[in-house]
Amino acid sequence: MSDCLFCKLINGDIPSDTVYEDDAVYAFKDIHPKAPVHVLVIPKLHVATLTDCDDPALLGVLMNRVRTIADDLLHLTAGYRVIINVREGGGQEVFHLHAHILGGKRLPF
Ligand code: AMP
Ligand code: ZN
Repeated sequence: MSDCLFCKLINGDIPSDTVYEDDAVYAFKDIHPKAPVHVLVIPKLHVATLTDCDDPALLGVLMNRVRTIADDLLHLTAGYRVIINVREGGGQEVFHLHAHILGGKRLPF
């Protein structure tokens, strides 16, 4: 989608701090980190929000990559939090589906 911020990051039209990339997902550092480690993982296919995505394969790949990035790449051995904000009421600001990985410190509830 040409007017989507995260699609522009995938395409390299806007610079971002890449953490991981493959055919299905792109992962990059959040520009306003809320923890010592704050990475966003997004599908390369534009999906606006979780509500719009009824595709178990896409969601399975997304969650699998979240696990791989957090555990195997970032080595968040003490643990981490995964958040998906869904639409305005859930605090979603960028309407391209994304999972937040937060870690690097003990997170308050
Ligand atoms: P959400 O509120 O779940 O939609 O989260 C959107 C996230 O995208 C926020 O944590 C922002 O800090 C982050 N963000 C916005 N613009 C950029 C950008 N250009 N590069 C990296 N992260 C961004
Ligand atoms: Zn997009």
